[in-house]
Amino acid sequence: MTAGGEAIRAVTVFCGATPGQGAGYVRAAAQLGRAVADAGLDLVYGGATIGLMGAVANAALRAGGTVTGVLPRSMLPHEIAHPGLTKLHLVPDMHARKALMSELGDAFVTLPGGLGTAEEFFEILTWSQLGLHHKPCVLLDTDGYYRPLLAFLDHTVREGFAASTDVARLLVCRRPEEVIAVLRASVHHG
Ligand code: AMP
Repeated sequence: MTAGGEAIRAVTVFCGATPGQGAGYVRAAAQLGRAVADAGLDLVYGGATIGLMGAVANAALRAGGTVTGVLPRSMLPHEIAHPGLTKLHLVPDMHARKALMSELGDAFVTLPGGLGTAEEFFEILTWSQLGLHHKPCVLLDTDGYYRPLLAFLDHTVREGFAASTDVARLLVCRRPEEVIAVLRASVHHG
């Protein structure tokens, strides 16, 4: 059970629509997708074929997992809907995408990404801070990509703008293979 008393059945992943520099980000995204499927958990993500989004979805599908995409209709020409998903929800806009992705997931994992990923990450973290959900939030810090963000979060606490208890609610993993164990531990200790 999570802190909110819910069993984890589906994991919502936020990640970049681009692959990033070097092969490490794609590799870690694929490992995470495979780990989610191997654990028997459903994957929920942005529904695209491109970037880390495509990598995480393809790996989960290859491992026999159930993958649900949530894509705004307006993004169809840009992000290219994945043709092989278990289920694809086409939604009216970005707000509807985030609302459905947050509803479908019992836990949230943020992989490296750009401005869109940052927006999704902070929304779900602030919803946790406000008590609007009680689902675990994991940040996958592949190759130290999120070191500056983690330093900034510490800064917000030091400068008195965020409570250490709110920032501490964020679970940080360095490697994709740690994520499932961290989620399971949050179920037991949440
Ligand atoms: P990025 O991290 O910029 O590569 O974007 C990752 C994903 O976030 C892409 O699928 C974007 O379409 C999506 N995205 C960007 N801005 C928003 C937003 N305001 N709300 C929801 N999704 C967004």
